[in-house]
Amino acid sequence: MRADKLLAHLGYGSRKEVKHLLKAGALVVDGVAIKDAKKHVDTKNASIEVHGEKVEYREFVYLMMNKPPGVISATEDHRDETVVDLLEFEDRIMDPHPVGRLDKDTVGLLLLTNDGQLTHQLLSPKKHVPKTYFAKIDGKVTDSDVAAFAEGVTLDDGYVTKPGKLTILQTGETSEIELTIMEGKFHQVKRMFESVGKKVTYLKRISMGPLALDEDLQEGEYRELDEEEVQLLR
Ligand code: URA
Repeated sequence: MRADKLLAHLGYGSRKEVKHLLKAGALVVDGVAIKDAKKHVDTKNASIEVHGEKVEYREFVYLMMNKPPGVISATEDHRDETVVDLLEFEDRIMDPHPVGRLDKDTVGLLLLTNDGQLTHQLLSPKKHVPKTYFAKIDGKVTDSDVAAFAEGVTLDDGYVTKPGKLTILQTGETSEIELTIMEGKFHQVKRMFESVGKKVTYLKRISMGPLALDEDLQEGEYRELDEEEVQLLR
């Protein structure tokens, strides 16, 4: 990677700004100050120091967040806070994006990465990545809803969903359920319940593919995936 691009990636300013840093000898690679912005730096193998501090350059970042309510699953928004706004600077400069969307009021497992290939793989309708949600429902969820979801239900726009696995955890005037679906249509869980005349009042994603939400993460917190978790997703 070019020296100026590397410093910009590491968060030391725009390409123009980092040129001054390079001229001042701030970047030292394998013991040698790199002053030429165009000089190639081997980011995988070289020892990199900036202002005398050793720096670890990562190409990809993989994060698991427990998304809080009230924030948007996007990289930027002109009105609302986004999940990317919740990240520490050192993660934000890696340019991660959310893998798919959760509604503003939905909480729970959201992956963020700058690995576009993995994102594509996880979101591709062909891959049928299962997503499991815990939800609170206004109304009594019944075995006939379980059967309807297993068949596939017709949403308000006429789309017939693929089979979903609905498990009733608690039922009464309000119910608690888990639902696993293999697709990710807009507001899908809410609309599936609307199709059987019920309203979702709380929605939390608890797993995606092989990954379950880390229970140690409070809403708004996140952590990096370890290598094993990243491999599981591939
Ligand atoms: N289904 C929904 O209705 N909302 C979400 O945020 C995710 C799935």
